[in-house]
Amino acid sequence: MLNIVLFGPPGAGKGTQSERLIEKYGLVHLSTGDIFRANIKGETALGTLAKSYMDQGQLVPDSVTIDMLRSEVVKHESPRGFIFDGFPRTNAQAEALDTFLNELGTGISVMLALEVEESELKTRLLKRAEVSGRADDANPEVIQNRINVYNQETAPVKSFYQAQNKFISINGIGSIDEITNRLFQAIDSI
Ligand code: AMP
Repeated sequence: MLNIVLFGPPGAGKGTQSERLIEKYGLVHLSTGDIFRANIKGETALGTLAKSYMDQGQLVPDSVTIDMLRSEVVKHESPRGFIFDGFPRTNAQAEALDTFLNELGTGISVMLALEVEESELKTRLLKRAEVSGRADDANPEVIQNRINVYNQETAPVKSFYQAQNKFISINGIGSIDEITNRLFQAIDSI
């Protein structure tokens, strides 16, 4: 199986690039942010809980997020692989992911990390707010919180995959096609 962690700060282009990767490699796309938003829309108990964190730009607690992701992974029978988009965001999530992929007899093939500097992220998120309708994209304070949480809690997850020799850094600045090609090249090199 080809199991990819598509990593990067908010606004790095994970969602956009995931669409290109699932098309080319026939993978299942699992975005924890999308799953939470679907639960908010469906007014589930999970959605209500997640919303209270998302509106502040905070992470939803690990236990909740990990259980949700595990139940999504096991829904798919003999997939070619997964793209994990927005997960793992903490070392505890990365460890849990390794454990349950291991139980399924597979593992992470690579982490592809989209690198984009902070000023560009803020510009992109405010622009995305015009079309996404996402409250967490429209508020500069919430954006700053999300970036701070990324720097403090999520960026360290890179080391987890570096230690396993599975880390590839990708320049996330350029046209969408240029970045897609960088990702394709990285995947085809593994
Ligand atoms: P995203 O769509 O990836 O930008 O995620 C939007 C929001 O959902 C984040 O700011 C978090 O509040 C929450 N979220 C998404 N994925 C995770 C995760 N893996 N762990 C904790 N919270 C998450």
